[in-house]
Amino acid sequence: MPAQPPVFSDQDLQARNTLGLPARAAVAVLEDESAIPALCEALAAGRNGPEGREADAPLFVLGGGSNVVIEARPHHRILRVALRGIRLWDETAGHWIVEAAAGEPWHGFVDHCLSQGWPGLENLALIPGTVGAAPVQNIGAYGLELDQRLHSVVAWDLRAGREYELRPDECGFAYRDSLFKRDGAGRWLIVRVRFALPKAWTPRLGYPDLRDHPGLRDEGGGFGAGGAARGAPRTPSPRRIFDAVCDIRRRKLPDPAVLGNAGSFFKNPVIGASQAAELARRFPGLRTYPQADGRVKLAAGWLIEQAGWKGRRLGPVGMHERQALVLVNHGGAQAADVLALAGAVRADVEKRFGVDLEREPVVLD
Ligand code: NAP
Repeated sequence: MPAQPPVFSDQDLQARNTLGLPARAAVAVLEDESAIPALCEALAAGRNGPEGREADAPLFVLGGGSNVVIEARPHHRILRVALRGIRLWDETAGHWIVEAAAGEPWHGFVDHCLSQGWPGLENLALIPGTVGAAPVQNIGAYGLELDQRLHSVVAWDLRAGREYELRPDECGFAYRDSLFKRDGAGRWLIVRVRFALPKAWTPRLGYPDLRDHPGLRDEGGGFGAGGAARGAPRTPSPRRIFDAVCDIRRRKLPDPAVLGNAGSFFKNPVIGASQAAELARRFPGLRTYPQADGRVKLAAGWLIEQAGWKGRRLGPVGMHERQALVLVNHGGAQAADVLALAGAVRADVEKRFGVDLEREPVVLD
C-alpha cells in the first residue's frame, strides 16, 4: 500500500520556535521520506487541510524554529521535518562524504562528525537548528560558511513533485542566503544534506575571538593534530577548535532555552567602498571588512550598539546586553513586539549611519 501523507492537526508551537513566541497552527510531522510523494499529491489536490482551515493554505517547512518570527495564528500550514540518520555516504581520495537527514540537530551532527574523525565543521559548532535548515540560511560563523563544506543537497520540489540532488553551484548561495530561502518557504523540502569533509584538514583561525582563545594557545603538548615535527608550531585539533567555539558562544550568546532568541537578528550590511570610507572618517571605531568584490562588510552588532540599543528594552523584548545583534524575548512577547523593536533599531541605525539593516529571520504569518 502506498505511504499515507502526513496529517495536519492544530498544535502549539511555542516550544518549537527559539524566540518562544506563542503560536498555534496546523502542523504535520514528517518522519519518513516515503510519505513525500503522497504529500506532494495531497498538496497538488488541495487536500490535507485541517478542519475549518483553507485546504490550500501555503506550506512552511519548519526545522528547529531558530530563524523564525512566528505570528500567533499563522495562516501557513507547517510541515515539521523529523527525518533522522547520519552515515558515511562515500569516500574520495580527498574527502569524507557524510550524509545527514534534515531533522538531525545541527550541533549534534557536528559533534558526531568529529568523534568519527571527519573534521571540517568545527567552526560551526553550537549553531541552533537542524541540518536541513543549515543550507537554507547558508549558516556561517568564525570564517566558515556551510557552502564551503557542502557536497550536495537532496531536496524535493514540492510544487513539481520531484526529488533533486543539487550541487553547491545550483543552490544559489550568498551571504546567509540561498535559492531555498529566496524561492519561498513552501517550495523546497530538504530531506538530506551531504558534506565533503577534507582529509587534509587545516584549521580556520582567522577570527580574533577564536585566534585569541586561551584553549587554542600551544601550551606544549596540548594540541594533537599529530605528526608535527619537533620544534615546529603545532596545530590545534578540530576538537579543540570545536570546544573553543562552544566556549565563546556560550559566553557571548544567550541560550535560547533560557532566554528566547533567534541568533543574529540582522545581517551584517555590505556597502560600497566610498560610503564605508566616509563612515570610517566620521566614526573612527567603525569595524570594516573588505570583501572580494570590492565592497565592505560592516559589523551590524557594532552599529546597533553605537545607536544605543545594546542591552536596551522595548516592552517585553530587547537587544542582548552582551551581543547587540541578538534580539531577546524577556518573557511574554508576541511577534508584533519583536517586529516593533526590529523596526526601531533599524530606523535608528539608518538615521545615525545611513545604513539599512536587513532582517535575518523569516516572518511566518
Ligand atoms: P564578532 O567576532 O563580534 O564580529 C562581528 C562581525 O564582524 C561578525 O559578524 C563577522 O562577520 C565580522 N568579522 C569579525 N572578524 C572578521 C574577519 N576576520 N573577517 C571578516 N569578518 C569578520 O562576531 P560575533 O557576533 O561574536 O559572531 C561570531 C561569528 O558567529 C560570526 O561569524 C557570526 O556571523 C556568527 N554568528 C552567527 C549567528 C547567526 O545567527 N547567524 C549568531 C551568532 C554568531 P560574519 O558574520 O560575516 O562572520
